[in-house]
Amino acid sequence: MRRTSGKVWLVGAGPGAPDLITLRAAEILGRADIVFYDALVHPETVALAARAEKIAVGKRCGKHSTAQRFINKRLADAARKHAIVVRLKGGDPMLFGRAQEEIAALQAAGIAYEIVPGVTSALAASAELGVSLTQRGLSRNVVFVTPRAGAGESAHDWAASVMAADTAVIYMGAGQAQLITDTLIARGMAPAAPVMVVENASLPQQRSRSCTLRALPDASAYLSGGPALIMLGQVYAAAQETAVPALPRALAA
Ligand code: SAH
Repeated sequence: MRRTSGKVWLVGAGPGAPDLITLRAAEILGRADIVFYDALVHPETVALAARAEKIAVGKRCGKHSTAQRFINKRLADAARKHAIVVRLKGGDPMLFGRAQEEIAALQAAGIAYEIVPGVTSALAASAELGVSLTQRGLSRNVVFVTPRAGAGESAHDWAASVMAADTAVIYMGAGQAQLITDTLIARGMAPAAPVMVVENASLPQQRSRSCTLRALPDASAYLSGGPALIMLGQVYAAAQETAVPALPRALAA
């Protein structure tokens, strides 16, 4: 009898802390034959796939990473050999994770797939800050946005979504802090608007900084190179008032 192909699971690994993973994700990892994991996934999370062959597929800004097209092909190839193939992604797979390209490739190859959600970093950062993304009378909507556009992708107006949002969470933006500040001020956002920068949310090495929009480039320079979110909105005003000034006064103004 002809052997049918296995199934590919796109699994959210959560924001970083290995215990912020769903039971469903842990269970499928335990049964996986092969796991393709992103650079941001914690080693203890990868280790949950005790019996699987483990393959790193990179994905950190500016560093070497496996081309997306190659990952798509490897997933399909693996499913022809193995029953349970896991594609393990940081946070939630359906948010800035290029899941749709992997789904399209699997559909085109006629391979079964399933998606397991994860805790996205914006939610982990909010939990650590103790600041709700929505608040009665202050914030009734949240935007998840990135200023980053892929090669060949047409430019999109990320700043318009930030300006329209009560609370905005910018993913993959810490390396472009100056551009973000300049663009938003040019669009009319107050230079004193409250901003929060959170690096390595949910991990022991987490750092967060409360600052103004104008001081964002300085606050970002203080980061240590881990994944970071820039969060904007009036919900961060209270934190700004109570923040310990960690930067020279001239910079923090
Ligand atoms: N799918 C992921 C996002 C992938 S894009 C998710 O749902 O979280 C990668 C970006 O996510 C990083 O550039 C950073 O902006 C953010 N990020 C991921 N992990 C993070 C963490 N632990 N703390 C802060 N930001 C994080």
